[in-house]
Amino acid sequence: MDRTLEEILEAIWKADETGDGNLQGIQDKCPIPITEGDLEALERRELLKQQGSRLSMTDAGRIVARSVVRRHRLAETLFATILDLSFEKRESLACEVEHTLLPEVEEAICILLGHPTTCPDNKPIPPGACCSAKRKTISSLMTDLTDLEEGDTGRITFIRSQSHERLERLTALGLTPGTLVRVFQTSPAFCLEVEGTELALNRDAAEDIFVTKVALSWLTDRPEDSMPGARLTVFGSNLKS
Ligand SMILES: [Zn+2]
Ligand SMILES: [Zn+2]
Repeated sequence: MDRTLEEILEAIWKADETGDGNLQGIQDKCPIPITEGDLEALERRELLKQQGSRLSMTDAGRIVARSVVRRHRLAETLFATILDLSFEKRESLACEVEHTLLPEVEEAICILLGHPTTCPDNKPIPPGACCSAKRKTISSLMTDLTDLEEGDTGRITFIRSQSHERLERLTALGLTPGTLVRVFQTSPAFCLEVEGTELALNRDAAEDIFVTKVALSWLTDRPEDSMPGARLTVFGSNLKS
């Protein structure tokens, strides 16, 4: 989602916390100027409702705002407690990170910090699934594809190329860093769904692809990550090179 729109929803969330829900109160909490066009874009996406000068978020808008605020305040807590950064520095860094932090990293930070409920400025951090489950262990963030089980989803972090040619062929299949892959069969071939395409890889190739495991709930939180229906492409032992 557009950063500008995320910033505005975040500002509305903060304004709601302090009870300044009018446009001026929201603008005061937003680092960028809010335009009429931005508000219309939010309304079109059914994230916001405008009634006169009153702005209120829809349930969908509140979900987005809540997760931006959660990422911002978790990052701030990390920067203040572990890195001991100054207020200005951690604030500006957190404002960047809130738009880009991957859910799996967000959860790892929350567990590392012991599920904090407030940030260094004493504002509430909206809890995540890891908090109610009181999760204590950070599952190893990176594994190769063969460590995933049937039904698991992973996000590609990097590909260890045996040869330049193989790397190019994997890239041509859409296997690039950042891409989500879902495993639906692990033997005899390793079958996965990548951006609507089904691929069959041999084990060798699968061992070269490193991923972070992604929980399904993280995907439903971020609808832009959803995967459309698949068509089949088989890519077998000819991947060996
Ligand atoms: Zn922000
Ligand atoms: Zn937590």
